[in-house]
Amino acid sequence: MLGFDALSKRSRVARRLVLNAAAKINLALEVLGKRDDGYHEVATVMQAVDLSDRLVIEDAEGLELRVSAPDLPSDGRNLVVRAAHALREATAVSRGARITLDKRIPVAAGLGGGSADAAAALVGLSRLWGLRWPAARLAELAVTLGTDVPFFLRGGAALGTGRGERIEPVAGTALALVLVNPGVGASTLAIYGGVTPAMYSDGSHVRQMVAALRSRDPARVGASLFNALERVAATAYRQVAQMEAALLAAGALGAAMSGSGLTVFGVARSFDHARQIRARVARGSWACWAVRAIRGPAIRMTRDP
Ligand code: ATP
Repeated sequence: MLGFDALSKRSRVARRLVLNAAAKINLALEVLGKRDDGYHEVATVMQAVDLSDRLVIEDAEGLELRVSAPDLPSDGRNLVVRAAHALREATAVSRGARITLDKRIPVAAGLGGGSADAAAALVGLSRLWGLRWPAARLAELAVTLGTDVPFFLRGGAALGTGRGERIEPVAGTALALVLVNPGVGASTLAIYGGVTPAMYSDGSHVRQMVAALRSRDPARVGASLFNALERVAATAYRQVAQMEAALLAAGALGAAMSGSGLTVFGVARSFDHARQIRARVARGSWACWAVRAIRGPAIRMTRDP
């Protein structure tokens, strides 16, 4: 799986890389309490899924980003640019890159798209610039860019603790899922702002999900879904309950919101089943995808243009 389609014969350095950056869902997300630093202490089971943004990274003098989504900034507010600057500042590299970001993951949707892009930029630019950093060093830089970025450097299924940035891999299984997004974004900050101590729990949902994944039984995974933020989001956005009800009525084994929303997902028995559910649920302004859980890395280099 070579990540570049042109090599400098002299330096054997990658000149052009194409990367897929996969989204994540939270199969379980618990808020355990509030920390002294103002953040919430969470426990979550994250799963990479095959709905991906595409990044093309080419050698260039300066740093330049082009983004396909018209409403996303391409300056220092974009996490890709922030990742590039952070990596350059942490090394003696003076080279640049021309990055083209083709957005497919909906923005501010609880699918971690910005964090996935940041992780892809770190992986791709490390390769382009010939850095040979150990994974742990890249992960340390990743966490300065966002809580979810370290997860995307690993992928698969993982347990996240702390603010969600402390990642340990857990046994995953071959899940098929349906994602439904209402076309309306939610602010992570606003959703966490609505959490009250009555919504705190003790980590038992996450433990149950880890056991369900180990059992490899999609029905058990479907029955173990949990998201403490769902009540907050559902109060402000009636689409959350509507999307979940539609998924369950279409045959999903369980449904829940991902992260701080508003994307909702359902668990299917198989990928064919996921496609059937997707066809039944698709309507109006909702965007729907049948996807598979990714068991390997969330960031993949590809030869495809
Ligand atoms: P999380 O689950 O990590 O909270 P999310 O899926 O809810 O993330 P993102 O799509 O990552 O949300 O976007 C969150 C914010 O980050 C948006 O307001 C967006 O403007 C900003 N952002 C910066 N760079 C990017 C990027 N490359 N892709 C998407 N959003 C980005």
